[in-house]
Amino acid sequence: MRKTTPVAALLAARHLPLTAALLLAAPLLLTSCAKPQADLKAAESLMTPTLLIEHIKKLSSDEFEGRAPGTRGEELSVAYIESEFKKLGLKPGNPDGTYIQKAPLAGIDSSPEGGLVVNGKRIALTAGKDFVGASRRFLESVEVKDSDLVFVGYGVVAPEYGWDDYKGVDVTGKTIVMLVNDPAVPDPSDPAKLDEKFFRGRAMTYYGRWTYKYEIATAKGAAAAIIVHETGPAGYPFDVVTGSWGGENFDLQSADNNTGRVAVEGWVSLDKAKETFSAAGLNFDEMKKVAARRDFTPVPLKGKASFTIRNTLRKIDSRNVVAKVEGSDQALKDEYVVYSAHWDHLGRDTSLQSDQIFNGALDNASGTAALLELARAFASLKPAPKRSMLFVALTAEEQGLLGAAWYAAHPLYPLNKTLANINIDGVNQWGKTSDLVVIGLGNSTLDDTLAAAAKEQSRTLVPDAEPEKGFYYRSDHFEFAKKGVPALYTEPGTRYIGRPDSFSQQKRDEYTARDYHKPSDEIKPDWDLSGAVEDMKLLFHVGVRVADGEKWPEWKTGTEFKALREAMLKQ
Ligand SMILES: [Zn+2]
Repeated sequence: MRKTTPVAALLAARHLPLTAALLLAAPLLLTSCAKPQADLKAAESLMTPTLLIEHIKKLSSDEFEGRAPGTRGEELSVAYIESEFKKLGLKPGNPDGTYIQKAPLAGIDSSPEGGLVVNGKRIALTAGKDFVGASRRFLESVEVKDSDLVFVGYGVVAPEYGWDDYKGVDVTGKTIVMLVNDPAVPDPSDPAKLDEKFFRGRAMTYYGRWTYKYEIATAKGAAAAIIVHETGPAGYPFDVVTGSWGGENFDLQSADNNTGRVAVEGWVSLDKAKETFSAAGLNFDEMKKVAARRDFTPVPLKGKASFTIRNTLRKIDSRNVVAKVEGSDQALKDEYVVYSAHWDHLGRDTSLQSDQIFNGALDNASGTAALLELARAFASLKPAPKRSMLFVALTAEEQGLLGAAWYAAHPLYPLNKTLANINIDGVNQWGKTSDLVVIGLGNSTLDDTLAAAAKEQSRTLVPDAEPEKGFYYRSDHFEFAKKGVPALYTEPGTRYIGRPDSFSQQKRDEYTARDYHKPSDEIKPDWDLSGAVEDMKLLFHVGVRVADGEKWPEWKTGTEFKALREAMLKQ
């Protein structure tokens, strides 16, 4: 759940939340649904909490070893998903007659060593404790020696805001130290708030993502790029960074072995950053304020950085698992609606003292379970929807949406014949809600279709309450969106029936602090998947309506993907 791949072409990408008012004012683009309601009710009633939990138990069991790509966990996960698709009567999703799409990955396990010398003072960096470092170069050893250390603020170049943190300073061969997230510019009339005129205020823009930071470091020719971790702005604690980056990292296999990328991509803890700034005679908090100004210029940290990264390399043919329900209309069955969920998670970490297996029950055994049960509901419809439904269990989401990136770059069916992507990454495990969160609400007419289905359940749609965490860029739907395919990504609602208003945020915060990307992401005794099933019914109805509908889903005016889609459809 929630990491993104570098997207150089989308440096200007924007989260575009629409107001609820605008959404309500939007015309409903539904076409009448061809299927009798009774058939749809019968199909949706096949999806149950009991069936979901059975899949989740299996996929998140210790036997599956945390489902890392390229491990025995992948073998077991792929085999399980394929056999479930077969049992449900789905056809092979790959035109070659198999249920497999190969997704070739480069695996890199980096062992970093690093240290700083600032004003003559040695500052040790302990890997895994206060420092995380990796190299995406497909080389056995990568070294950066005595590279000048320079603070570049947020490290952002954003012409549309007249913002350039580098101001022409050459950072070639240097180690640049950057703040996490996008520039936190205070509102001049109320400094407690963020200025909406810069970087969408509280919402995170692509400039705030770590992927952007390493891309700009590459573009600037830096030797190393180090992000200062802070829990609030990052959206997750430092042990999430160590958990996600500590082991093997993956990329798609590339012809240049990634040698054009910045040599070292790293993070330091806030404490270590403060120590470094102090040694340079600077106050970190003061410098952070300065960095939130447009007139910021890079500040030398009066020191040198050295890193040695030893990489253990391998190439892995990982796999997406694909199955389809063929459309019943001869003229339309070559058009597709794609449901997706990533099957992978973080595997195991043998350096941990106690529980070593990242079970990923919520993230994303639960979404994979939902994908299988949606497949069951669709397979039961006789006749099938007019257009074909494709179900894709994606690999390597945790390593940067790589399975989705591979699919989008090598689609099994043309993207200009793909009407929509509906992605599931984590289901609601705490009971029924009267609403449903849509990440990027208002981006496409899929939201209108969803709103109409939700209304029939007496539920409403609400926008992402935490736009500052940049969820829009953090799951597989983004790979479809950036190619132009209208994509829908929902998250659990916020108003739990029979619970106080604070319940949702409390549960979310608990999950982020305790379980997100940790070995403890396991099935909990208090799970109640009744709400998850309600959410799946909505996603089922959206799929049915799109697959049977006369009008294709569209991006709304003002979204960054609309032009791409229109160009694609002219081909
Ligand atoms: Zn995840």
